[in-house]
Amino acid sequence: MITVTALPAFSDNYLWLLEHDGRAAVVDPGDAAVVQAALAARQLELAAILITHHHPDHIGGLVALAAATGARVYGPRAEQARIPGLDVLLDDGDAVQLDALGVQLQVLAVPGHTLGHIAYFEARQRLLFCGDTLFIGGCGRLFEGTPEQMHESLSRLAALPGDTAVYCAHEYTASNYDFATAVEPDNARLSEAFAQVQARRAQGVATVPGPLAQEREFNPFLRSADPAIARAVAAHEGREINDPVAVFAALRRWKDGHRPRIR
Ligand code: ZN
Ligand code: FE
Repeated sequence: MITVTALPAFSDNYLWLLEHDGRAAVVDPGDAAVVQAALAARQLELAAILITHHHPDHIGGLVALAAATGARVYGPRAEQARIPGLDVLLDDGDAVQLDALGVQLQVLAVPGHTLGHIAYFEARQRLLFCGDTLFIGGCGRLFEGTPEQMHESLSRLAALPGDTAVYCAHEYTASNYDFATAVEPDNARLSEAFAQVQARRAQGVATVPGPLAQEREFNPFLRSADPAIARAVAAHEGREINDPVAVFAALRRWKDGHRPRIR
C-alpha cells in the first residue's frame, strides 16, 4: 500500500507525494523547495519524479529536485523537447514499475490541455494522477489540442473504475462547480454538491481527490452525451447541437468566457 499526500504549492497547485516504507515519488513538482521540505519532515528518500506535461507549474522543481536526490525522472516522450531532465520517456500503454514503492502505474496518453499530456493510473489502489486534464467538476483548458482530442482523453479517463480516486493538479473545484451550476441551475443534486464544496473550502479543506463516479455524475465535461447538458449548451448557443464532441467544444468555450460568481 502507498499513501498519497497533497503538497500545496503556488496559489492552487497540488504536488502529489506517494510514499511507502521510507521511499517516495512525487507527481509534477512545480516547486522543489515544497517537496524537499516534505521529504525532510517525513525522512523520505525520493526515488522517482513523475511528470504529466510541460507547463512550468508542473516541472519547475524537476531539475533541482533530481540533482538533490538522484531520483529517476519519468515523463511524456512527446514533450521531451520541452521538459529538461527526463530519464525515462513514456508513451501510451507503458507501465512504470516503481520497485522502491512496490507500485506499478499505467500510462495513458490524454492530449488536449497539451499535446503530449499523460496520466498515471495505479490499478490496485485505483489512483489516477491526471495533471491538468480532468479536474474535480471540470477539465483543463485546450491550450494545444482540439476539442476532439480532449473529449477522447476525458472519455478514456471516465471509463476507469468508478471508485478510482482522481488526483488532479489544481484546487479549481469551487469555480468549476460554479460553472456547472450555471449550466444546470435546476439540478438539485449538483447544487447540493456545490454547497458541500463551498463549505469545505470555507474551512480550508482540500476537495481533491474525489471519486471518479462523482465526476461521472456531476462534471459537465464528462457528460456531453447527456441530453440535459446538450439542451443547456444548445440554449446558450441559440442553435441545435447534439453531437457529443460539438457539445463538449461549446461547453469548453462557454466556460472560457464564464466569470465565476465565487472564488
Ligand atoms: Zn497545465
Ligand atoms: Fe497546471
